[in-house]
Amino acid sequence: MSEKTIHIVSHAPHANMPAIPAALEQPSGVLFDARNRPLQDLRISLTDKCNFRCVYCMPREIFDNDHVFLPRSALLTFEEILRMTKIFVAHGVSKIRLTGGEPLLRKNIEQLIEQMAKIKTVDGKALDLTLTTNGAILAKKAQSLKDAGLSRITVSLDALDDATFKRMNDADFPVSDVLNGLDEAYRVGLDSIKVNMVVKGGMNDQEILPMARYFKNTPYTLRFIEYMDVGASNGWQMQEVIPSAEVVRRINEEMPLELVPPKNVSDTAERWRYKDGSGEIGLISSVTKAFCHSCVRARISTEGVLYTCLFATEGYDLRSLMRNGKSDAEISTALAHLWRARGDRYSELRSAETEGIAPARKKIEMSYIGG
Ligand code: SAM
Ligand code: SF4
Ligand code: SF4
Repeated sequence: MSEKTIHIVSHAPHANMPAIPAALEQPSGVLFDARNRPLQDLRISLTDKCNFRCVYCMPREIFDNDHVFLPRSALLTFEEILRMTKIFVAHGVSKIRLTGGEPLLRKNIEQLIEQMAKIKTVDGKALDLTLTTNGAILAKKAQSLKDAGLSRITVSLDALDDATFKRMNDADFPVSDVLNGLDEAYRVGLDSIKVNMVVKGGMNDQEILPMARYFKNTPYTLRFIEYMDVGASNGWQMQEVIPSAEVVRRINEEMPLELVPPKNVSDTAERWRYKDGSGEIGLISSVTKAFCHSCVRARISTEGVLYTCLFATEGYDLRSLMRNGKSDAEISTALAHLWRARGDRYSELRSAETEGIAPARKKIEMSYIGG
């Protein structure tokens, strides 16, 4: 009998217990980190499971049938997520993105959205509540998500050619499922729908032009994402990154583009519009043009660990604080101290550090922390 290797990927190697300062403080509605960046944006991962096995995120060799996902008891409950959200919002967060893994796999997600949509920002406005999905079951879910109060949605799609798409998602999902999901999202009235394409050189870069042609002049904004060295399992190499400048060059040759000034300083995507007036595209250049100087984003993992950077090697266990009976004031004060101490700027330092290969230090997987 042959022996089987069981892969257990420890996603959260260092989840520190946050210190609770003796002097509790009231949130003031604005919180700056050590580099003067306000806390404004929160991503919450709802599950570490996914129905895709994208080669750049959850490679099948590692996330195989023997992979051990988090037990249900480890996941933040909806009550815990709502409690955390309110604490973050009191510190100035106005934008929440639900992610994963695949967030639409989280049972009864609509119930969570319904409650989240009721939370108001410190200015008394509705939260900017959005979600990123691979779109596989979006056609079935779009109406109930909209009814629950979701305002916007981002759908990931890496190719229009079925063979290429299936090579990327490694789970035999056809492009038509995602396109149907997009159309249904539009039909039910979800707003400013974005399509995210991760470009991995030698894998799907031949799809840049077909994707641009397809989404030009549609209600959807296509955004190209540079393949990043997130996690430790995707074997990232610099030579597989197609720089955004190259994406723009290829599209501009056929469909002339011009740069659009950013709406907000914290926007992660650089915007380009077609000179013929038929819409715009976005470029997210996390590798070649780091935007750490304006990064206002915190992340909470599926099991309630706070990360102040996508590339952090350690996080802070907020779930334990909640489950150990700490009060909102205690958790809020602990969060204030953590954010004030934040100095993360991994991407700005990456080029010097990596010299073309992902550094060996233990980083968190994208499927655990959310994109
Ligand atoms: N499953 C959902 C999806 O795919 O949209 C949400 C979670 S996924 C981790 C969020 C985003 O991260 C997706 O747009 C995905 O393409 C992106 N992503 C994952 N791994 C990446 C990598 N190594 N480099 C760049 N983007 C990545
Ligand atoms: Fe799943 Fe999204 Fe990761 Fe693809 S990118 S494996 S869809 S979590
Ligand atoms: Fe923000 Fe970290 Fe990404 Fe820089 S590397 S933009 S600090 S998440």
